[in-house]
Amino acid sequence: MTIKSANDGTQKTRSENFGFRLLRFRLSFLTAAFIALLFLPGVASAEEWRSEYAYGPFEIYLNVDINSVRKTLEQIADLDRELSVRFSLPPCQEKIKLYIFEDVKTYTAYIQKEYPGAPMRRALFAMEKDKPGKVFTFFHSDFAEDLRHECTHALLHSKIGRLPIWIDEGLAEYFEAPKAQRVYKEPYYGQIRKNVSYNVFAPVPDLKKLENITKMGDFLEVHYRNSWSWMNFMINDPSRQKILGNYLILCKKADEREKEQGIFPSFTELLGNTIPKYKTEYKTYWKELKKPTNP
Ligand SMILES: [Zn+2]
Repeated sequence: MTIKSANDGTQKTRSENFGFRLLRFRLSFLTAAFIALLFLPGVASAEEWRSEYAYGPFEIYLNVDINSVRKTLEQIADLDRELSVRFSLPPCQEKIKLYIFEDVKTYTAYIQKEYPGAPMRRALFAMEKDKPGKVFTFFHSDFAEDLRHECTHALLHSKIGRLPIWIDEGLAEYFEAPKAQRVYKEPYYGQIRKNVSYNVFAPVPDLKKLENITKMGDFLEVHYRNSWSWMNFMINDPSRQKILGNYLILCKKADEREKEQGIFPSFTELLGNTIPKYKTEYKTYWKELKKPTNP
């Protein structure tokens, strides 16, 4: 499937509410063909997507009704701003392409054809060298969470470039939850609190071990949870959040060839140098982190 860039300035555009800019809308196959002839000479795929929008750092290609996904799209545009503010990161370097299929069948068929061998998940972030990142998903019950997770990867990649797997996944796990639930996301919250209180051998997850994982295949459920717990610890304190921001900038500046091989600046070293008793601090943070009780 050829997908034309929605930003070539040749399309007829009009403003939408909430800052969404409608770039193209397919009323019917014939209309689409007509629009393609009229405004988009040479665009073979005008009929492939029901509508296309530009919003924040995203180019959005939809085969679902915009109103069913609008709220989530607004949240991920907010997330873009939030990541920049929290970690003093630059804006996205390029537009991220976001494709939302109408159902699992069309989504699966597309991914299998375009990315043979890719793990079959409900959502996917495709990172190609020197190309804008692409996020694919379909409309389903956990759509919002999946989209926030993959778009966190895409936004971080666009702002920073490659990151160590554990930081990348830890942040995606953190920001995938609805805002009010990020800190207390279950089952992680309960499991980490239990570990800190009752695991006498390893109450604090080994940071060095997480840092040493360089293959996605070696990154297990327990690593997702532990990475999330470290990111949770780092984000929810202004001085620690600053340290994390500094580390992300270090990664941005690090040697590209080394990063491709999984070699990154050491987070453990940076944290140890700035907070020598970081393990004790982690333990205290988690022991004291009580879930607010609903009135
Ligand atoms: Zn992920």
